[in-house]
Amino acid sequence: MNATLNHSLGIPGSSATAFALGLILISALLLWLVLEMARSLIRIIGEARQQKLTLAILQTRLQETRQRCREAEMAASGWNGLRKFSVAEKIRQCDGVFSFYLKPHDGRDLPYFKPGQYLTFQLKIPGREKPLIRCYSLSDSPDHRDYYRVTIKKEKAPLDRPEFPPGAGSSYFTDKVKVGDILDVKAPSGHFFLDMTKNNPVVLLAGGVGITPILSMANAIAASGTKREAYLFFGVRNRQEHIHQEELAALAAAHENIHLHVAYSKPGPEDVKGRDYHYEGRVGVEWVKEILPSNNFEYYLCGSGPFMKSLTDGLEAWGVPEDRVHFEAFGPASVKKKAASPSPEQTTRLQKVTITFARSARTVRWEPSSENLLSFAESLGIKIDSGCRAGGCGSCGVAIKSGAVDYLKKPASAPDPGTCLTCICRPQNDLVLDA
Ligand SMILES: Cc1cc2nc3c(=O)[nH]c(=O)nc-3n(C[C@H](O)[C@H](O)[C@H](O)COP(=O)(O)OP(=O)(O)OC[C@H]3O[C@@H](n4cnc5c(N)ncnc54)[C@H](O)[C@@H]3O)c2cc1C
Repeated sequence: MNATLNHSLGIPGSSATAFALGLILISALLLWLVLEMARSLIRIIGEARQQKLTLAILQTRLQETRQRCREAEMAASGWNGLRKFSVAEKIRQCDGVFSFYLKPHDGRDLPYFKPGQYLTFQLKIPGREKPLIRCYSLSDSPDHRDYYRVTIKKEKAPLDRPEFPPGAGSSYFTDKVKVGDILDVKAPSGHFFLDMTKNNPVVLLAGGVGITPILSMANAIAASGTKREAYLFFGVRNRQEHIHQEELAALAAAHENIHLHVAYSKPGPEDVKGRDYHYEGRVGVEWVKEILPSNNFEYYLCGSGPFMKSLTDGLEAWGVPEDRVHFEAFGPASVKKKAASPSPEQTTRLQKVTITFARSARTVRWEPSSENLLSFAESLGIKIDSGCRAGGCGSCGVAIKSGAVDYLKKPASAPDPGTCLTCICRPQNDLVLDA
């Protein structure tokens, strides 16, 4: 058949063999070339991957080192007691909510803080006998070294008691404080913060004014320049209450690793789904599950009591380990770690405990259903100073003359030896307090 083919092609027999051999040689050469190219390509891809990996490791190390330097600097340049800050700007965010840009009056550097931490203010409000102590979370990234920002919502009277005056501290800020005013401020503190030495993906959940520490975290991720994934879920009633709406939208638009999901529980007629919000309803785990690829994240929550309760319960039911859920309460702790609730044996033991308020000359049996020593004292008409009621400001510190206490949460900074922060502790045994 070859002969027939050669004949039909007009190629003599020996030339045909040489032609076939040539073809085989060229094919082999081509195959070798292709294989060599493939091998080189694989090597190049491998090297590029290795380089990318090395670069990622170096970037993480650099980030860690930068963060440690900042923390060392924070420890060195923080301040004790009160420092004077002047109000550089006051900006209306939405109904009853204002941002305050604060600059140190002494003109010196501001220490780095951890995103999620708060400032404690000592407010000298005209007409009040004593200064009022209130905590407000820092709402911007710690990378702005020339100002601190807080965002404050005027607290209205409770719905069932409209005759009460609105919140004293928040109304003072929103109604009275103006640009140029000087405020007394304690250094940033608090244990609710995002660890910036890590690069793990996070879920940030905020309800209402609880957006403040969460926004600081999101802004810090953006400023770090890393591609750390952050899913931010934010629930408000509608656009009237959409705090930092423009800033949040711009943040998500500029950073593909920051995924913003806004829920309106009661959208107004002018509110547009897809423009102002993405979901009608409250932020709940069912909605979160629809968006997240898995539950394998670290979670940071800040919002009202019911918001935090529903989310912590939902995350637990979804199998998220307790140590991956971090939260901040803007008042008396509404969510308690399991360990904080006394066991039945502890409750029986606590029923026999007595508390002596030495200055008030009263000894009473402890009521195990009491939230903490501060509210127990208040229920008896015994006055103890208080501020944040969340273990942050130190105002409710009382000396322990004898006995010991258990903390319901870790105090923002260790109380002085021999004293306790009454807003976040319960008695461990018979107590004598200097109150
Ligand atoms: C760590 C931390 C961070 C925080 N961060 C922020 C933040 O970033 N932004 C923010 O806006 N808030 C924040 N808060 C909350 C803030 O500290 C205050 O708790 C809040 O502003 C309310 O304080 P106030 O002085 O305005 O209200 P208060 O004067 O303490 O009043 C509270 C409520 O009691 C009502 N009331 C008034 N009189 C009575 C009465 N006789 N009996 C019963 N009730 C009465 C008031 O109407 C009001 O509803 C934070 C709190 C903490 C602990």
